[in-house]
Amino acid sequence: MTNSQETTTLNNEDQATGVIERVTGPLVRANGMSSAKLYEVVKVSEEKLLGEIIELHGDIAAIQVYEETAGIGPGDVVYRTGRTMSVALAPGLLESIYDGVQRPLKKIEVASGNCYIKRGIEADAVDMSKVWKFTPTVKVGDKVESGDVLGEVQETSVIVHKVMVPPNEGGVVASIKEGEFKVTDEIVALKREDDSIASITMLQYWPIRKPRPKKNKIFPSEPLRTGGRSVDTFFPIAKGGAGCIPGPFGAGKTVTQQSIAKHCDAQIIVYIGCGERGNEMTEVLSEFPHLIDPNTGEPLMKRTILIANTSNMPVAAREASVYTGITIAEYYRDMGYNVALMADSTSRWAEAMREISGRLEEMPGEEGYPAYLSSRTAEFYERAGIVKTLGSDDRTGSLTVIGAVSPPGGDLSEPVSQATLRVTKTFWSLDADLAYKKHFPSINWLNSYSLYAQNFEEFWKKEIAIDFADVRKTAMTLLEKESKLLEIVRLVGMESLSNGDRLVLEVARMIREDFLFQNAFDKDDAYTPLERQYGILKSIVTFYDAGLDAVQLPEFNFVDFTKMPCYAEVANLKNQLKWTEEDYQTFQDRVRNEIGALAG
Ligand code: ADP
Repeated sequence: MTNSQETTTLNNEDQATGVIERVTGPLVRANGMSSAKLYEVVKVSEEKLLGEIIELHGDIAAIQVYEETAGIGPGDVVYRTGRTMSVALAPGLLESIYDGVQRPLKKIEVASGNCYIKRGIEADAVDMSKVWKFTPTVKVGDKVESGDVLGEVQETSVIVHKVMVPPNEGGVVASIKEGEFKVTDEIVALKREDDSIASITMLQYWPIRKPRPKKNKIFPSEPLRTGGRSVDTFFPIAKGGAGCIPGPFGAGKTVTQQSIAKHCDAQIIVYIGCGERGNEMTEVLSEFPHLIDPNTGEPLMKRTILIANTSNMPVAAREASVYTGITIAEYYRDMGYNVALMADSTSRWAEAMREISGRLEEMPGEEGYPAYLSSRTAEFYERAGIVKTLGSDDRTGSLTVIGAVSPPGGDLSEPVSQATLRVTKTFWSLDADLAYKKHFPSINWLNSYSLYAQNFEEFWKKEIAIDFADVRKTAMTLLEKESKLLEIVRLVGMESLSNGDRLVLEVARMIREDFLFQNAFDKDDAYTPLERQYGILKSIVTFYDAGLDAVQLPEFNFVDFTKMPCYAEVANLKNQLKWTEEDYQTFQDRVRNEIGALAG
């Protein structure tokens, strides 16, 4: 076998073993399947529609079909393939746009002659005829194990593809080639311990429902830098962390995910789009290929893989899409890259699960979702992590998973939100009211959270500033105090507040308007490095720290406070792209002096 695709012995030929008994939407029941295996790929009817066995009782198999089943009926034949549902992993994945079962959208559109995918079309996930320049990094006689890098291929202008020994393979390099090869050409022959020869190509397969192996997970202690001020400073996510963005329609889930995809410091992006409506997915499909990577100036697609479920695609393909995406993401993680995966929206994935479970006549759980919704959700997010990869070279790779959830009516008590909240540690709660008021990103600062933040205290201290965590905490406390004070103001008016309370309101307003508000469509505002985020927030918090004593004095009045030159300059801090640490310190000194002068 040239790679790790799991097969049973089927003499290479598809075998016709089953006969369809019943078809209900995307689900087919067939008998005569006793020799088949769970999760085996089958071809349904003479049209050879792609399907997967998801239940097996005796000789009856329940098959979920990834294509439209109209016209298929009892008596039609089912062909076994002996393969499990797998993804092809090789150079050429980057820049691709796939459907939920890794068929390249462009190719299938071309093959079927229009934008609807014709049934039964087979299309290779990667270009089998393209040649890649392979440069070996090991030599004859070297002993290699699973995960070891055998050589490199410049996959796109910005990413080097590491060709690795597939899992469960290893031995001594008996021969190795250098030059231009197709992904199916043998590049390395390995002599295994039992003296048999493993022929290694640049192409390997991995079953989508099985996490790719790793040595071990390590403690996530470094944040994923996204350039979003609300995300990075207030509600950070770890490299290798799992986060969720719930929010009603129009709150900004897609914009937030895309802006993280564009700016975050992951090298590889996998974006799984399950559109709420057809046109939303079309937008992603038409917009994403035009996004420019601000770091390289090259198209973002050079380091991106898009998985798209447009509205004309069958529900089963949507169910599979998250697994297809995460398996590809793990493969790049295994090369030692930081990978970020966005799934937008996982509610549509859960709905696909619900539909298939209904067709299987399983006992429904809450709101009709299957009882295994929670475990499937957990299994998906648990594939996130920062890991020691297989291989003898002590590589580390990370996979960060960010899932959007669209709870109907924004009600987070519904099952998909609950299942997601249980397993994700960063929660960005998008708020319809904030979006309505055009406060973007509409991440509600009172009920969002990050359980990773405590992991980063060392990182912040070392990399950003000794008091980063304190400044962050003060700012968050001020926002909480503000919300309580605003209640009082609503009841009894501003006059009832002390000068100390008014100072809280002033500084909290600055935090909201001049720090948290961030326009994803403004070239300069869209990304703020963490160092500058600290500079801005510390400057704002200085108004509070320096004002605390001043407001106690009888001669203090707020009109003078708002007339200070530094007061007016706060709004402009985020536009000072070139400011260095010293510039922020100078500004903070001015704030202290100007407030000091008020008191004097
Ligand atoms: P959702 O995916 O939750 O339905 P979108 O991400 O499509 O919502 O956002 C809806 C609209 O809100 C966008 O078209 C945009 O006008 C605005 N918006 C969302 N986030 C931002 C942001 N960070 N900066 C500026 N505008 C935003």
